[in-house]
Amino acid sequence: MKEPEETGQAAETASERLAWRCAAASDVGRVREQNEDAYWVDDDRGLFVVADGMGGHAAGEIASSLAVRAAADGLALLPDDPTRTQARDRVRRAIKDANTVILIEGRARPERSGMGTTATVLFVSPDGWFVIGHVGDSRAYLVRNGAVSRITEDHTYVQELVNQGRLSDEEARMHPRSSLLTRALGTTASVPIDIYDGSLRPGDRLLLTSDGLTTMVPEDLIIEILKRPSTPETLVGALIDAANAAGGADNTTAIVVEMSGAD
Ligand code: CA
Repeated sequence: MKEPEETGQAAETASERLAWRCAAASDVGRVREQNEDAYWVDDDRGLFVVADGMGGHAAGEIASSLAVRAAADGLALLPDDPTRTQARDRVRRAIKDANTVILIEGRARPERSGMGTTATVLFVSPDGWFVIGHVGDSRAYLVRNGAVSRITEDHTYVQELVNQGRLSDEEARMHPRSSLLTRALGTTASVPIDIYDGSLRPGDRLLLTSDGLTTMVPEDLIIEILKRPSTPETLVGALIDAANAAGGADNTTAIVVEMSGAD
């Protein structure tokens, strides 16, 4: 799924036009007082952002909302009908700009120093492809023909152990340091940003979610829910219910986008 910089010119011209339906929600959970997640949806333009903030004294909430706003501002500069390369560049730059905004805010106010956030940005094109930009441990999943794949790789300490073959995915999920990030916005001036792209077909679903879902709920159950023949609204509700049924120890945010053929 992770592809080199110049890809997919054929796919940009050959695909049928697609439409989509989406639903999004964020829930504080069963334990926390505040919701440090933030999300943003521009349904018309096919733009979706999830951010999960961290930092004391409400700084996490500020970091995630700054990230979402800065990313939205940056994505507003995306040209109409962008090429895949333009979309990749713009998504990357929007996340980079969000990083800068949070760094500046953290430096300007000592009580907010050390705040940070994840950011997962999705652009879907009616030409039948997507671009995702990603930093942190919020995740993107793709559902196609009843098969569910995780698109993004978590930037966490436990993911590094998984990559070294020292933990399974399920052991990583249950690990006491499962949320320890190795990359986040707002922590360094030059954060590496993962960019993914791929094709989309009618019937495909994409999920963006914060780790409040993926640390509370076994991936098998997330996959089972994502394959249900339900509307995006119902799926988002079922995912948040599953996180809360498992204890709701963290805030949970979910965005589901379902592709269809354009009329
Ligand atoms: Ca979280």
